[in-house]
Amino acid sequence: MEPGLVDPFNRRIEYVRLSVTDRCDLRCTYCLPPGHHDFIEPEHWLTFDEIERVIRAFTELGVYRVRLTGGEPLTRHKLPELAARLNALPHLEDLSLSTNGVQLKKQAHALKRAGVKRINVSLDSLQPARFAAITGGGKLDKVLDGLAAAGAAGLHPVKINMVVMNGVNDDEIEDMVRYCIDRDFTLRLIETMPMGDTGRSASSHYLDLEVVRRRLEERFELVPALMPGGGPARYVGVAGTNLRIGFITPISRHFCETCNRVRLSADGALYLCLGQDDKVELRPLLREGIGDGDLKDTIRAAIARKPERHEFRERPQKIVRFMSRTGG
Ligand code: SAM
Repeated sequence: MEPGLVDPFNRRIEYVRLSVTDRCDLRCTYCLPPGHHDFIEPEHWLTFDEIERVIRAFTELGVYRVRLTGGEPLTRHKLPELAARLNALPHLEDLSLSTNGVQLKKQAHALKRAGVKRINVSLDSLQPARFAAITGGGKLDKVLDGLAAAGAAGLHPVKINMVVMNGVNDDEIEDMVRYCIDRDFTLRLIETMPMGDTGRSASSHYLDLEVVRRRLEERFELVPALMPGGGPARYVGVAGTNLRIGFITPISRHFCETCNRVRLSADGALYLCLGQDDKVELRPLLREGIGDGDLKDTIRAAIARKPERHEFRERPQKIVRFMSRTGG
Protein backbone atom coordinates (compact mmCIF):
# COMPACT_ATOMS: atom_id res chain seq x y z
CA MET A 1 0.00 0.00 0.00
CA GLU A 2 1.29 3.47 -0.89
CA PRO A 3 1.19 6.51 1.43
CA GLY A 4 -2.39 7.70 1.86
CA LEU A 5 -4.05 10.84 0.57
CA VAL A 6 -3.90 13.69 3.07
CA ASP A 7 -4.95 17.18 2.02
CA PRO A 8 -3.40 20.50 3.10
CA PHE A 9 -5.83 20.73 6.01
CA ASN A 10 -4.70 17.36 7.36
CA ARG A 11 -7.85 15.56 6.28
CA ARG A 12 -7.38 11.96 5.16
CA ILE A 13 -9.27 11.24 1.94
CA GLU A 14 -10.81 7.78 2.20
CA TYR A 15 -14.06 8.09 0.32
CA VAL A 16 -15.03 8.59 -3.33
CA ARG A 17 -18.55 9.42 -4.41
CA LEU A 18 -18.81 8.10 -7.90
CA SER A 19 -21.45 9.53 -10.22
CA VAL A 20 -22.21 7.01 -12.98
CA THR A 21 -24.61 9.29 -14.86
CA ASP A 22 -26.00 12.80 -14.47
CA ARG A 23 -29.35 11.66 -15.87
CA CYS A 24 -32.30 10.99 -13.62
CA ASP A 25 -35.79 9.56 -13.94
CA LEU A 26 -37.14 12.17 -11.49
CA ARG A 27 -37.08 15.97 -11.53
CA CYS A 28 -36.95 16.99 -7.87
CA THR A 29 -37.75 20.68 -7.55
CA TYR A 30 -34.53 21.45 -5.64
CA CYS A 31 -32.30 19.39 -7.90
CA LEU A 32 -33.10 19.48 -11.64
CA PRO A 33 -35.38 21.94 -13.42
CA PRO A 34 -38.28 20.55 -15.50
CA GLY A 35 -37.30 20.29 -19.16
CA HIS A 36 -33.58 20.21 -18.38
CA HIS A 37 -31.75 18.60 -21.32
CA ASP A 38 -28.18 19.71 -20.90
CA PHE A 39 -26.86 16.28 -19.93
CA ILE A 40 -23.40 14.83 -20.45
CA GLU A 41 -23.24 12.94 -23.77
CA PRO A 42 -22.94 9.18 -23.19
CA GLU A 43 -19.69 9.00 -25.19
CA HIS A 44 -18.20 11.24 -22.52
CA TRP A 45 -19.24 8.95 -19.68
CA LEU A 46 -16.34 7.04 -18.27
CA THR A 47 -16.62 3.41 -19.37
CA PHE A 48 -16.68 0.67 -16.75
CA ASP A 49 -13.03 -0.08 -17.60
CA GLU A 50 -12.09 3.57 -17.04
CA ILE A 51 -14.04 3.79 -13.80
CA GLU A 52 -12.43 0.61 -12.50
CA ARG A 53 -8.97 1.98 -13.31
CA VAL A 54 -9.56 5.24 -11.49
CA ILE A 55 -11.14 3.59 -8.46
CA ARG A 56 -8.37 1.00 -8.34
CA ALA A 57 -5.83 3.85 -8.25
CA PHE A 58 -7.75 5.54 -5.45
CA THR A 59 -7.97 2.33 -3.42
CA GLU A 60 -4.23 1.81 -3.79
CA LEU A 61 -3.84 5.30 -2.32
CA GLY A 62 -5.94 4.53 0.74
CA VAL A 63 -9.55 5.07 -0.33
CA TYR A 64 -11.66 2.20 0.99
CA ARG A 65 -15.19 3.51 0.62
CA VAL A 66 -17.07 4.17 -2.62
CA ARG A 67 -20.65 5.29 -3.04
CA LEU A 68 -22.40 4.89 -6.41
CA THR A 69 -24.52 7.93 -7.11
CA GLY A 70 -25.69 10.28 -9.87
CA GLY A 71 -28.07 11.52 -11.33
CA GLU A 72 -29.89 8.30 -10.76
CA PRO A 73 -27.33 5.48 -10.74
CA LEU A 74 -29.92 2.77 -11.42
CA THR A 75 -30.55 4.30 -14.86
CA ARG A 76 -27.00 3.39 -15.90
CA HIS A 77 -27.18 0.16 -17.90
CA LYS A 78 -25.68 -2.87 -16.11
CA LEU A 79 -24.90 -1.03 -12.89
CA PRO A 80 -24.68 -4.30 -10.88
CA GLU A 81 -21.89 -5.41 -13.24
CA LEU A 82 -19.92 -2.27 -12.39
CA ALA A 83 -20.67 -2.75 -8.69
CA ALA A 84 -19.29 -6.30 -8.82
CA ARG A 85 -16.12 -5.14 -10.55
CA LEU A 86 -15.50 -2.44 -7.96
CA ASN A 87 -16.36 -4.74 -5.10
CA ALA A 88 -13.66 -7.15 -6.33
CA LEU A 89 -10.93 -4.50 -5.83
CA PRO A 90 -8.77 -5.81 -2.98
CA HIS A 91 -8.69 -2.65 -0.85
CA LEU A 92 -12.30 -1.62 -1.26
CA GLU A 93 -14.21 -2.36 1.96
CA ASP A 94 -17.45 -0.48 1.69
CA LEU A 95 -19.51 -0.16 -1.50
CA SER A 96 -22.79 1.71 -1.07
CA LEU A 97 -25.44 3.30 -3.28
CA SER A 98 -27.61 6.42 -3.26
CA THR A 99 -30.82 6.04 -5.25
CA ASN A 100 -34.26 7.53 -5.63
CA GLY A 101 -35.60 3.97 -5.37
CA VAL A 102 -37.75 4.10 -8.51
CA GLN A 103 -35.98 1.13 -10.11
CA LEU A 104 -34.91 -0.55 -6.91
CA LYS A 105 -37.55 -3.28 -6.93
CA LYS A 106 -36.03 -4.76 -10.10
CA GLN A 107 -32.42 -4.34 -9.09
CA ALA A 108 -32.17 -4.82 -5.30
CA HIS A 109 -31.19 -8.49 -5.36
CA ALA A 110 -28.67 -8.05 -8.20
CA LEU A 111 -27.07 -5.14 -6.33
CA LYS A 112 -26.82 -7.14 -3.15
CA ARG A 113 -25.27 -10.07 -5.05
CA ALA A 114 -22.81 -7.64 -6.65
CA GLY A 115 -21.54 -6.59 -3.23
CA VAL A 116 -23.44 -3.38 -2.50
CA LYS A 117 -23.74 -3.42 1.28
CA ARG A 118 -26.02 -0.58 2.14
CA ILE A 119 -28.17 2.01 0.44
CA ASN A 120 -29.53 5.50 0.91
CA VAL A 121 -32.91 6.16 -0.64
CA SER A 122 -34.24 9.68 -1.19
CA LEU A 123 -37.79 10.09 0.05
CA ASP A 124 -39.14 13.56 0.76
CA SER A 125 -42.82 12.73 1.23
CA LEU A 126 -45.11 9.82 2.06
CA GLN A 127 -48.09 11.50 0.41
CA PRO A 128 -48.51 10.39 -3.24
CA ALA A 129 -49.67 13.77 -4.59
CA ARG A 130 -47.00 15.71 -2.72
CA PHE A 131 -44.34 13.19 -3.71
CA ALA A 132 -45.36 13.67 -7.36
CA ALA A 133 -45.23 17.45 -6.98
CA ILE A 134 -41.75 17.43 -5.42
CA THR A 135 -40.30 14.90 -7.86
CA GLY A 136 -41.84 16.15 -11.10
CA GLY A 137 -44.37 13.34 -11.45
CA GLY A 138 -42.71 10.47 -9.56
CA LYS A 139 -44.83 7.55 -8.34
CA LEU A 140 -44.51 7.03 -4.60
CA ASP A 141 -45.62 3.37 -4.82
CA LYS A 142 -42.60 2.47 -6.89
CA VAL A 143 -40.23 3.84 -4.28
CA LEU A 144 -42.08 2.12 -1.42
CA ASP A 145 -41.95 -1.17 -3.37
CA GLY A 146 -38.26 -0.60 -3.98
CA LEU A 147 -37.68 -0.05 -0.28
CA ALA A 148 -39.49 -3.28 0.57
CA ALA A 149 -37.35 -5.11 -2.02
CA ALA A 150 -34.16 -3.62 -0.54
CA GLY A 151 -35.07 -4.91 2.91
CA ALA A 152 -35.96 -8.34 1.48
CA ALA A 153 -32.64 -8.48 -0.40
CA GLY A 154 -30.74 -7.90 2.84
CA LEU A 155 -29.39 -4.44 2.04
CA HIS A 156 -28.75 -3.02 5.50
CA PRO A 157 -28.91 -0.43 6.83
CA VAL A 158 -31.42 1.32 4.58
CA LYS A 159 -31.18 5.06 5.18
CA ILE A 160 -33.94 7.40 4.09
CA ASN A 161 -32.69 10.81 2.91
CA MET A 162 -35.30 13.52 3.34
CA VAL A 163 -34.54 17.04 2.15
CA VAL A 164 -36.49 19.20 4.57
CA MET A 165 -38.29 22.15 2.99
CA ASN A 166 -40.14 24.71 5.06
CA GLY A 167 -43.81 24.83 4.05
CA VAL A 168 -43.35 21.96 1.58
CA ASN A 169 -42.77 18.79 3.60
CA ASP A 170 -41.70 19.84 7.10
CA ASP A 171 -45.14 18.88 8.42
CA GLU A 172 -44.32 15.24 7.53
CA ILE A 173 -41.19 14.73 9.57
CA GLU A 174 -43.02 13.06 12.45
CA ASP A 175 -44.79 10.73 9.98
CA MET A 176 -41.43 9.89 8.43
CA VAL A 177 -40.03 9.13 11.90
CA ARG A 178 -42.84 6.64 12.51
CA TYR A 179 -42.50 5.14 9.04
CA CYS A 180 -38.79 4.51 9.66
CA ILE A 181 -39.36 3.12 13.18
CA ASP A 182 -41.86 0.60 11.77
CA ARG A 183 -39.46 -0.61 9.05
CA ASP A 184 -36.15 -0.46 10.89
CA PHE A 185 -34.82 2.21 8.54
CA THR A 186 -32.49 5.05 9.51
CA LEU A 187 -33.73 8.59 8.82
CA ARG A 188 -31.46 11.39 7.64
CA LEU A 189 -32.78 14.93 7.42
CA ILE A 190 -30.93 17.24 5.03
CA GLU A 191 -30.82 21.03 4.70
CA THR A 192 -31.44 22.38 1.19
CA MET A 193 -28.28 23.55 -0.54
CA PRO A 194 -28.11 26.38 -3.10
CA MET A 195 -26.82 24.36 -6.07
CA GLY A 196 -27.85 25.48 -9.55
CA ASP A 197 -30.99 27.58 -10.17
CA THR A 198 -33.25 24.94 -8.70
CA GLY A 199 -31.30 24.58 -5.47
CA ARG A 200 -31.22 28.36 -5.10
CA SER A 201 -34.95 28.80 -5.54
CA ALA A 202 -35.60 25.85 -3.22
CA SER A 203 -33.39 27.60 -0.69
CA SER A 204 -36.29 29.95 -0.05
CA HIS A 205 -37.71 26.87 1.73
CA TYR A 206 -34.54 26.43 3.75
CA LEU A 207 -35.14 25.32 7.32
CA ASP A 208 -32.44 25.22 10.00
CA LEU A 209 -32.53 21.63 11.27
CA GLU A 210 -31.90 22.80 14.82
CA VAL A 211 -35.51 24.03 14.74
CA VAL A 212 -36.63 20.59 13.56
CA ARG A 213 -34.63 18.88 16.26
CA ARG A 214 -36.25 20.99 18.98
CA ARG A 215 -39.66 20.22 17.52
CA LEU A 216 -38.92 16.48 17.49
CA GLU A 217 -37.82 16.70 21.13
CA GLU A 218 -41.36 17.76 22.03
CA ARG A 219 -42.78 14.56 20.50
CA PHE A 220 -40.07 11.95 21.05
CA GLU A 221 -37.42 11.29 23.66
CA LEU A 222 -34.19 11.85 21.74
CA VAL A 223 -31.02 10.23 23.07
CA PRO A 224 -27.38 10.53 21.89
CA ALA A 225 -26.46 7.95 19.25
CA LEU A 226 -23.56 7.00 17.05
CA MET A 227 -23.78 5.54 13.58
CA PRO A 228 -20.79 3.74 12.09
CA GLY A 229 -20.02 5.16 8.64
CA GLY A 230 -22.48 7.93 9.38
CA GLY A 231 -20.43 10.54 7.52
CA PRO A 232 -21.38 14.14 8.11
CA ALA A 233 -24.69 13.40 9.82
CA ARG A 234 -25.01 14.03 13.54
CA TYR A 235 -27.19 11.30 14.98
CA VAL A 236 -29.69 10.98 17.77
CA GLY A 237 -31.73 7.92 18.73
CA VAL A 238 -35.39 7.74 19.67
CA ALA A 239 -35.70 6.13 23.11
CA GLY A 240 -37.50 2.79 23.14
CA THR A 241 -36.91 2.20 19.40
CA ASN A 242 -34.02 1.24 17.13
CA LEU A 243 -34.42 4.40 15.10
CA ARG A 244 -31.53 6.74 14.55
CA ILE A 245 -32.10 10.16 13.06
CA GLY A 246 -29.22 11.93 11.33
CA PHE A 247 -29.10 15.70 10.85
CA ILE A 248 -27.10 16.83 7.82
CA THR A 249 -26.56 20.55 8.24
CA PRO A 250 -24.30 21.87 5.46
CA ILE A 251 -25.76 25.36 5.90
CA SER A 252 -26.42 25.89 9.61
CA ARG A 253 -23.35 23.96 10.88
CA HIS A 254 -21.00 22.96 8.12
CA PHE A 255 -18.83 19.92 8.67
CA CYS A 256 -16.01 20.68 6.23
CA GLU A 257 -13.31 20.20 8.85
CA THR A 258 -14.04 16.46 8.82
CA CYS A 259 -14.50 16.14 5.05
CA ASN A 260 -12.92 12.88 3.90
CA ARG A 261 -14.25 12.68 0.37
CA VAL A 262 -13.94 13.69 -3.26
CA ARG A 263 -16.42 13.24 -6.11
CA LEU A 264 -15.91 11.81 -9.56
CA SER A 265 -18.47 12.95 -12.14
CA ALA A 266 -19.84 10.69 -14.86
CA ASP A 267 -17.49 12.29 -17.40
CA GLY A 268 -14.44 11.87 -15.22
CA ALA A 269 -14.09 15.29 -13.57
CA LEU A 270 -12.66 14.91 -10.08
CA TYR A 271 -14.42 17.50 -7.92
CA LEU A 272 -12.57 18.30 -4.72
CA CYS A 273 -15.51 19.96 -2.94
CA LEU A 274 -19.27 19.87 -3.51
CA GLY A 275 -19.46 23.61 -2.99
CA GLN A 276 -16.43 24.79 -4.97
CA ASP A 277 -15.55 24.71 -8.65
CA ASP A 278 -12.07 23.17 -8.35
CA LYS A 279 -11.81 20.01 -10.43
CA VAL A 280 -9.32 17.93 -12.37
CA GLU A 281 -10.40 16.39 -15.68
CA LEU A 282 -9.31 12.76 -15.68
CA ARG A 283 -11.10 11.61 -18.86
CA PRO A 284 -8.70 13.17 -21.39
CA LEU A 285 -5.75 11.74 -19.48
CA LEU A 286 -7.30 8.27 -19.43
CA ARG A 287 -8.10 8.43 -23.14
CA GLU A 288 -4.58 9.63 -23.96
CA GLY A 289 -3.23 6.52 -22.24
CA ILE A 290 -1.86 7.87 -18.96
CA GLY A 291 0.11 5.23 -17.00
CA ASP A 292 -0.90 4.06 -13.52
CA GLY A 293 1.95 5.92 -11.78
CA ASP A 294 1.08 9.21 -13.48
CA LEU A 295 -2.61 8.69 -12.75
CA LYS A 296 -1.82 8.35 -9.06
CA ASP A 297 0.43 11.42 -9.18
CA THR A 298 -2.44 13.36 -10.78
CA ILE A 299 -4.77 12.25 -8.00
CA ARG A 300 -2.21 13.22 -5.33
CA ALA A 301 -1.75 16.64 -6.95
CA ALA A 302 -5.54 17.11 -7.02
CA ILE A 303 -5.88 16.29 -3.31
CA ALA A 304 -3.17 18.87 -2.59
CA ARG A 305 -5.62 21.43 -4.04
CA LYS A 306 -8.66 20.44 -1.99
CA PRO A 307 -10.36 23.62 -0.74
CA GLU A 308 -10.83 24.13 2.97
CA ARG A 309 -14.60 24.50 2.85
CA HIS A 310 -17.67 25.34 0.83
CA GLU A 311 -19.28 28.79 0.85
CA PHE A 312 -22.96 27.91 0.42
CA ARG A 313 -23.85 30.39 3.08
CA GLU A 314 -21.52 33.25 2.20
CA ARG A 315 -21.84 32.93 -1.60
CA PRO A 316 -25.11 31.14 -2.38
CA GLN A 317 -24.92 32.19 -6.05
CA LYS A 318 -21.57 30.56 -6.56
CA ILE A 319 -22.29 26.99 -7.64
CA VAL A 320 -24.12 26.97 -10.96
CA ARG A 321 -23.92 23.21 -11.56
CA PHE A 322 -26.75 21.03 -10.33
CA MET A 323 -26.21 18.44 -7.64
CA SER A 324 -26.88 15.73 -10.23
CA ARG A 325 -23.82 16.91 -12.17
CA THR A 326 -21.34 16.54 -9.36
CA GLY A 327 -22.92 13.44 -7.89
CA GLY A 328 -24.99 13.92 -4.76
N1 SAM B 1 -30.66 9.92 -7.47
C1 SAM B 1 -29.97 9.52 -6.27
C2 SAM B 1 -30.80 9.86 -5.05
O1 SAM B 1 -31.94 10.28 -5.21
O2 SAM B 1 -30.32 9.65 -3.94
C3 SAM B 1 -28.57 10.06 -6.12
C4 SAM B 1 -28.29 11.46 -6.52
S1 SAM B 1 -29.17 12.71 -5.64
C5 SAM B 1 -28.51 14.16 -6.42
C6 SAM B 1 -28.39 12.63 -4.05
C7 SAM B 1 -29.04 13.41 -2.94
O3 SAM B 1 -28.85 14.78 -3.20
C8 SAM B 1 -30.52 13.17 -2.79
O4 SAM B 1 -30.80 12.75 -1.47
C9 SAM B 1 -31.11 14.54 -3.06
O5 SAM B 1 -32.26 14.73 -2.29
C10 SAM B 1 -29.97 15.45 -2.67
N2 SAM B 1 -30.03 16.80 -3.26
C11 SAM B 1 -30.08 17.16 -4.56
N3 SAM B 1 -30.10 18.50 -4.70
C12 SAM B 1 -30.04 19.01 -3.44
C13 SAM B 1 -30.02 20.32 -2.89
N4 SAM B 1 -30.07 21.40 -3.67
N5 SAM B 1 -29.95 20.45 -1.54
C14 SAM B 1 -29.90 19.36 -0.73
N6 SAM B 1 -29.92 18.09 -1.18
C15 SAM B 1 -29.99 17.92 -2.51
